[in-house]
Amino acid sequence: MQGVGFRPFVYRQAVALGLTGFVLNDSAGVLIEVEGPTDDIDALCRQVLSQPPPLAQIAGVEERTIPTSGSRDPFRIVASPAGGDPSVPVSVDTATCAACLAEVDDPDNRRYRYPFTNCTDCGPRYTIIQRVPYDRPATTMAGFVMCAECQAEYDDPADRRFHAQPNACAACGPRLTWATDSGPAAATGDDALLAAGAALREGKILAVKGLGGYHLAVDAFDAPAVALLRRRKHRDEKPFALMVPSPDDAAELCSLSPAGWDALTSPGRPIVIGPRRPSAVAAGVAPGLPELGLMLPYTALHHLLLREVGHPIVLTSGNLSDEPIAHQDDDAFGRLGPLVDGVLSHDRAIHIRCDDSVVRDGRDGGGVQILRRSRGFAPQPVDLPAAQRASADILAVGAELKNTISVARGGRIVSSHHVGDLEHLATYQSFLQAVEHLCHLTGARPGVVAHDLHPEYLSTKFAVELDLQTIAVQHHHAHVASCLVDHGQSGPVLGLAFDGLGMGEDGALWGGEFLAADLAGYERAGHLLPIVMPGGTMAIREPWRMAVAWAHAAGCSDAVRLLDERASAVLALVERGSGRAASPVTTSVGRLFDAAAALIGVRLVATYEGQAAIELEALARSVPAGEGLDYPVDIRVGVGEGVLDPRPLIAAIIDDLAAGRPREEVAAGFHDSLARAAAALAVRLAGERGLRTAALTGGVFQNTRLSSVVGSALADAGIEVLVHGRIPPNDGGISVGQAAVAAANGCEEHPFAKDTH
Ligand code: ZN
Ligand code: ZN
Ligand code: FE
Repeated sequence: MQGVGFRPFVYRQAVALGLTGFVLNDSAGVLIEVEGPTDDIDALCRQVLSQPPPLAQIAGVEERTIPTSGSRDPFRIVASPAGGDPSVPVSVDTATCAACLAEVDDPDNRRYRYPFTNCTDCGPRYTIIQRVPYDRPATTMAGFVMCAECQAEYDDPADRRFHAQPNACAACGPRLTWATDSGPAAATGDDALLAAGAALREGKILAVKGLGGYHLAVDAFDAPAVALLRRRKHRDEKPFALMVPSPDDAAELCSLSPAGWDALTSPGRPIVIGPRRPSAVAAGVAPGLPELGLMLPYTALHHLLLREVGHPIVLTSGNLSDEPIAHQDDDAFGRLGPLVDGVLSHDRAIHIRCDDSVVRDGRDGGGVQILRRSRGFAPQPVDLPAAQRASADILAVGAELKNTISVARGGRIVSSHHVGDLEHLATYQSFLQAVEHLCHLTGARPGVVAHDLHPEYLSTKFAVELDLQTIAVQHHHAHVASCLVDHGQSGPVLGLAFDGLGMGEDGALWGGEFLAADLAGYERAGHLLPIVMPGGTMAIREPWRMAVAWAHAAGCSDAVRLLDERASAVLALVERGSGRAASPVTTSVGRLFDAAAALIGVRLVATYEGQAAIELEALARSVPAGEGLDYPVDIRVGVGEGVLDPRPLIAAIIDDLAAGRPREEVAAGFHDSLARAAAALAVRLAGERGLRTAALTGGVFQNTRLSSVVGSALADAGIEVLVHGRIPPNDGGISVGQAAVAAANGCEEHPFAKDTH
């Protein structure tokens, strides 16, 4: 990794041992040439391997003996060769370390209350790097000239800030500004911080410039202020994340598992979604949901600001509805100015927009699952499974929603930050920038571009217009491949890929797929019963439409006539059948969840993606997972593909609701019955093919209840179960899967590939 303080660490150890030689960064990593008594050299090797600096990751070590030079010169650090091969990965943005925080808190320290304090163990990286190799002039810190004291730290190999590229202090570094309108700053420096803190305490809505973009902030205990933020941001119900001053505050708001705590306090500082406790948090923060998303401060600025407020604040992406997060000052003032009462900003530019990462605490020993892999995680590489190597550099352009892009080079994949939903022009421009920047950072010159099968995705259109070899990767195959990469496996597995929608080989909208797959290819072994999606994409926003379709299929049309005034018209559409553009056919489990949520009366119209399923899972929580009612579901395995047929389930739900069965029990029964049937079908399909492993992937498996019931049923049948951990199960992981599929297919198409293996 670049910028993790590895060379000064080696320097300090070598000097202490009295060894001569040098250390340098080159294209392969760190090179140490050292001369001295064998015992001392062995001691150095042991120290390097056993106690590396906190952010360093040692992927491998190679040792070679060379003739001695007899030099008596002291050990030294050799400067990086300018313009060298930048294949050493750029490191991630990292939360303020304990040593820096202690300085910020120490009235006698020259960095007392300085919001941009950092060192080689912490601070901004990916968000400030403009080009590689990573060096101060190549970052947005280039314009700040270090004062004598900072320069002395930067130059001293024994100092914690040796070559800390963003090194700064109040005398020479970035400075806060506070503005309450578009005019000149009303306050700067510590006064700006105090003013912003006071405004938050008064219930004002602020824009706050952070590490990867601007956030909108408001007192989380102030219900009217939270409601006002929702109106101004045009965000009806999607939950807001909170930043809490300390782990103690987090413990008061949520009960997290040990794995959840580890994630919350990890240097990547993601938002951790976990079960909430009763608290003073305003109801409008996460309306109707049993969970909250929490994060701890990850910059000195956040620590200082949270202390001024003294309790949790809402800290949500600085944007209007689904637009990309604002990260440039002019844009932020233009777009966010009208939404806020004040702006706390600073003069260190953000080069790469980077949203907060999100993980969900699985509780029940399920570990944590990353849902959005961005700030603090990108561009950390993940390894391709053993023996898989990209013969040519591969660019994978991802899906349409929750877009990320990835580059596969050699034996590893580097993924971008969360780019977002490409349907917005501003997001598409951000996508173009991400492609260029990630290729530059990784030194990749792509020979192959992997894309989704869907011809209308903007990412697909971009890919096919490049003058490169293209590989179209089926959406759900990419999901399964991403789960394999997550576990360092190559398959074969039976993949259960359940999500919203993805284009199938037959042009239909898939989303309830049982794929016998490895990285190179797949066979569609089974799927959910296909059904018409009345009104096409309108059915995504309006779950009641899927309720009409499924109720009709189950022979219970009368049950849905009152769901919506248009229900009868939609029923007529369903009765006319599918096949026309307005009513495509889908096998999506996500849409089946929509139907159930509408039938059970949880959600007829969704205001954000996945809302119906999230609320249905929440409703079911009073019944322990796996103990829900046993509704009938048909599974058919014969000639051709296996089919999961939930029509009896839908009919039973409608009957039970009509008979007055509590909705909680029906919701739990829906989850558990569907999960058991999916597992039963998977066991049959896997058995026929001799597969011993299953992978649970796709956005629907963010549902902890579904995942755990399917998982335990498969485990009971002796099948090993892979679930996502490090790579998102949703479309944020698609680019990783595409890259892995392309790498697994690449060798044959590149005759020279044999030489590089
Ligand atoms: Zn530090
Ligand atoms: Zn300074
Ligand atoms: Fe998907």
